[in-house]
Amino acid sequence: MLEVFGHKVNPGGKAYFTVPVGELAHKAMVMIPVIVAAGETEGPVLWINGTVHGDELNGSYGAWELTRELDTKSLKGAIIVTPIANPLAFECRNKISAVDSMDMDTAFPGDPEGMFTQRIAYIIYNEIKAHANALISFHTMATPYKANPYSVRKLVPGVDPEVNKTAEGMQKAFGVTANCLVDLSGSTNELPGVTSGALDITCLKDGIPAFMGEMGQGGKIERPYIDAAKRGITNVMRYLGMVEGEIVRPERQVLITKRKFLRIGKGGFMTMRVASGDEIPAGTAMLDLHYYGDQIEEVKAAADYFMIGTRENPVVSTGDRIAFVGMEWQEWT
Ligand SMILES: [Zn+2]
Repeated sequence: MLEVFGHKVNPGGKAYFTVPVGELAHKAMVMIPVIVAAGETEGPVLWINGTVHGDELNGSYGAWELTRELDTKSLKGAIIVTPIANPLAFECRNKISAVDSMDMDTAFPGDPEGMFTQRIAYIIYNEIKAHANALISFHTMATPYKANPYSVRKLVPGVDPEVNKTAEGMQKAFGVTANCLVDLSGSTNELPGVTSGALDITCLKDGIPAFMGEMGQGGKIERPYIDAAKRGITNVMRYLGMVEGEIVRPERQVLITKRKFLRIGKGGFMTMRVASGDEIPAGTAMLDLHYYGDQIEEVKAAADYFMIGTRENPVVSTGDRIAFVGMEWQEWT
């Protein structure tokens, strides 16, 4: 029998419950929802964590739907979903919580005596470490950006090669077109801020194969990307031997090994001329910067790019990110 967060779930059973993780100043309890689907037969435990950033919804929405639809008779092992890992940020409709201004995806494995966000991370991660044989961490791009679903796997120094191999198999099986591999040993520091304390990195270090599914845009419920998450989870379950069936991969998969955020130098309004999934040669006109009818600048691609995500919100200031691009990529066959 599976016992998660102190709740027992019988083989073949499903459960939905909430777990208290702390309280607010006016004494309201803060709870996180948990969904469990336990197979009738033994097998791996796949943990799906979503909304670690409070406005990133599509992946966890898909995980929730899939768990509801799943037939536990034909399931080996179990799925455990923490769909709203960061309830404080979720309430703020924001990436981070206004209670302590912390980014939960820098807070793992958490701290039982730390800030609110660190304490929630600690409560969740304790259970992940106790149960999970594999993990998918769902994210989206931030709310100003549009992107087709993509996956991200990290190469973390010191991680068991077998763990990396399983994580690679899961990532490939997940079955989206664009797949990123980020080597943290030679980090190009592509993202602002720190990467230590991310859930997937913490899992890999603890021997739990993990990757991130980036499912569309923050602050939205997007049906195609919810369905992509459901297909991806099902494929990963097939890869792990939890359910029967062939892994369904897209016609083409691309492995991106170098990425970069493109930033704009001037302020104004932008009109994007390219879209997520486009492969563009150097010199392509990517966007127009304008200001109440006056054309300011046409921004051209400085190199060949695979467009991972593009800015949708037209208002830009100096330094704003206009696109997330692959600089080096190859066919992933
Ligand atoms: Zn995120």
